[in-house]
Amino acid sequence: MERNHLIKPTLDQDYPTISHGNGIYLYDTDGKQYIDGSSGAVTASIGHGVLDIVEAMTEQARKVSFAYRSHFTSGAAEALAKKLSELAPGDLNWSFFVNSGSEATETAMKIAIQHWQEKGFERKNRIISRWTSYHGITMGALSMSGHVPRRKRFVPLLEDFPSISAPYCYRCPHNNETSGCKLNCADELETAIQRVGSENIAAFIAEPIIGASAGAVTPPDGYYQRIKEICETYDILFIADEVMTGIGRTGKMFAMEHWGVTPDIIALGKGMSAGYTPIAATMITDRVMEPILKGSKSIMAGHTYSANPLSAAISLEVLSYIERNDLVRAAEEKGQYLFKKLQGLAEKFDIIGDVRGKGLLLGLEFVSDRVSKTPFDLQIGLTPRLVNKAFAKGLIIYPAAGAIEGIAGDAVIISPPLIITNEEIDRLVKILEASLEELQ
Ligand code: PLP
Repeated sequence: MERNHLIKPTLDQDYPTISHGNGIYLYDTDGKQYIDGSSGAVTASIGHGVLDIVEAMTEQARKVSFAYRSHFTSGAAEALAKKLSELAPGDLNWSFFVNSGSEATETAMKIAIQHWQEKGFERKNRIISRWTSYHGITMGALSMSGHVPRRKRFVPLLEDFPSISAPYCYRCPHNNETSGCKLNCADELETAIQRVGSENIAAFIAEPIIGASAGAVTPPDGYYQRIKEICETYDILFIADEVMTGIGRTGKMFAMEHWGVTPDIIALGKGMSAGYTPIAATMITDRVMEPILKGSKSIMAGHTYSANPLSAAISLEVLSYIERNDLVRAAEEKGQYLFKKLQGLAEKFDIIGDVRGKGLLLGLEFVSDRVSKTPFDLQIGLTPRLVNKAFAKGLIIYPAAGAIEGIAGDAVIISPPLIITNEEIDRLVKILEASLEELQ
């Protein structure tokens, strides 16, 4: 057996070796240039090779990289938590730091359960989620996710949490495409709560815009307002999984701001460090924190590297860089420009059924027939072929297909760094167009 020691995502596939990155570009060791049209996994939001971040990283590392959180707090972690509370809507004033988006959503689940326990509601421990969703790869996070390929080997170990339909307007789960939206998909939450009993439910979790499992599926206006109303009526916490959407990606610092709704708990990841270090956070409101402050005074979660000073200093500098360079506004403006360009592609290519998303989190869904919206056979789906063709031509896009087997889903996410210029968007779209042409 040939051994090369590193377990790569697909073991029989060759991967180019990364050499370096600069702005929206990545370069392999053969000198080939790639446009990072998806910011990796919707992560590298300020682009590659930003020296301000390297300097902040070095400065903190010179002082101390790691001091265990049970022994010390740090200026960097304190400042980061304060900064996030200033940026977040409402009274989301508290941050618990972890290392990945999965840990952030899993911690959100645990904090929601602990919140109710501290108030004496021991049975409120179920989490309702949407089937079309991805909240992470750890067992708790997977239990809340409907991402079939990532779940299926572990189903016997997963919690059987209740789920409801996603607000998937292109394929309305209530067939309201023509008769008009009645927000039935939001009302499903109420039906699920009544079925399971609010005395058994801690929280409802949702990605503001659905990413990995569907390709930037964006809800209709009024959806989250209705969801929040239902959560309040039945005393259920609302967790927004902003791991993909948070920190400017959609043209607002937090995507929930598009709908003026303040969740009780927010999970953050990816954009928090823009890929410069692993760090993520679970943010909670004063109301959620209160019984814990009065009760056990300790959140039962955390990891060795939680709140380490090095990652905190890096994240703090990323947030400052985003503000200094007005990148949230850039995401909105460049997003509108890219959206129009993608609509232009949809006019040319019949296989593009839907263009959607907000800011620089955009998605294309492919169909073999536009009128009937027939998806491509998911076994041979169009997405993997398109992603490979684009990669060969020097463009990275993110596949979101195959998550919702048997329902629909052959989609890609296009989410370049927020620093992208209009000329670079033109170049990105040109390569995408050439890749689509080869599939015709
Ligand atoms: N939540 C959402 C919405 C995500 O998109 C992801 C990753 O794609 C996760 C959670 C899990 O994050 P991580 O891969 O950092 O564990």
